[in-house]
Amino acid sequence: MSTPRTAVVTGAARGIGAEVARRLASDGMAVAVVDLDESACQSVVDDITHAGGRALAVGCDVADEAAVTAAVERIATELGAPTVLVNNAGIIRDNLLFKMTTDDWDAVMNVHLRGAFLMSRACQAHMVEAKFGRIVNLSSTSALGNRGQANYAAAKAGMQGFTKTLALELGRYGVTANAIAPGFIATDMTAATAARVGMEFEAFKAAAAKEIPVARVGRPEDIAHTASFLCSEGAGFVSGQVIYVAGGPRD
Ligand code: NAP
Repeated sequence: MSTPRTAVVTGAARGIGAEVARRLASDGMAVAVVDLDESACQSVVDDITHAGGRALAVGCDVADEAAVTAAVERIATELGAPTVLVNNAGIIRDNLLFKMTTDDWDAVMNVHLRGAFLMSRACQAHMVEAKFGRIVNLSSTSALGNRGQANYAAAKAGMQGFTKTLALELGRYGVTANAIAPGFIATDMTAATAARVGMEFEAFKAAAAKEIPVARVGRPEDIAHTASFLCSEGAGFVSGQVIYVAGGPRD
C-alpha cells in the first residue's frame, strides 16, 4: 500500500477547489481545505469526513505571508506534512484596460501569483524532506489572452512560467509541478461573469457550450479528475506540463 499523503487545496470552500478537495480525499489523502473564511470550509470538511476521509478546515489568505506560514505549520502538525499542493484560490476583477484600476491589477496578481508562490515555498520544504511532492497550479485558457482580463490573463500566463520553473528546480527531489488550464467551468466565478454581462447563467452556459467542441460546459469534476491524476503516485514522470481541460484543443 502507498504512503498516506496530506494534500493542501486552496480556495477549497466552493467551486473547483471544493471538488478537488473531495476527490483527493476519496483518493485516500488527508486534505486541508483552505479558504479565506475558515467556517466556509466546514461543509467540504463534513462531506469528506462523512465519506470516511480526514480533512481540516483552515482559514488563510494565500496572499498573506504570515498567514500562509502559520497555516502550513498547522496543517503539518494536525494532518501531516503537506506533500501535495493544489494552488486553486482565485479571483477575477475584470475590466477593459482603460478602466482597470491599479487595485484590480494588484488584487489579481496577489491572489494567483503571490499566493501560489507563498504556498509553494512553504510546502516545498516538506516535499523535499519527504522526497515526494505534487504541485498543481490552476492556470486558465485566459492565459492565451481574453478581452477584459488583462490582469487575470497575465496572472494565469504567469502561473505557467512559475509551474515550469518549479518543475525544473524541484524535480530532483521527487517533486512534480504541473498546471491545469480550464476552459469554461460552471461555478460561482462564471456565474458572476454572466451577471456582469447581464445574462441569465443558464443562457450564458448554453451560449458557451455552442463554442466548445464537446458541446457542453465544464464541471468542477472535470478539473478534479485531472488534478487527481497529476497528484497520483503514478504521475511522477509528468512534470512542467500545462494541460488544457477545455472540451477541445484550447478554449
Ligand atoms: P470560485 O468559485 O470563485 O472559488 C474561488 C475560491 O477561492 C473561493 O472560495 C474564494 O473565497 C477563494 N479565494 C479567493 N481569494 C482567496 C485568497 N486570497 N485566499 C484563499 N482563498 C481565496 O472560483 P472557481 O471557478 O472554483 O475557480 C477556481 C480556480 O480555477 C481559480 O484559480 C480560477 O481562476 C480557475 N479557473 C476557473 C475557471 C472557471 O471557468 N470557473 C476557468 C479557468 C480557471 P471567497 O469565497 O471567500 O472569495
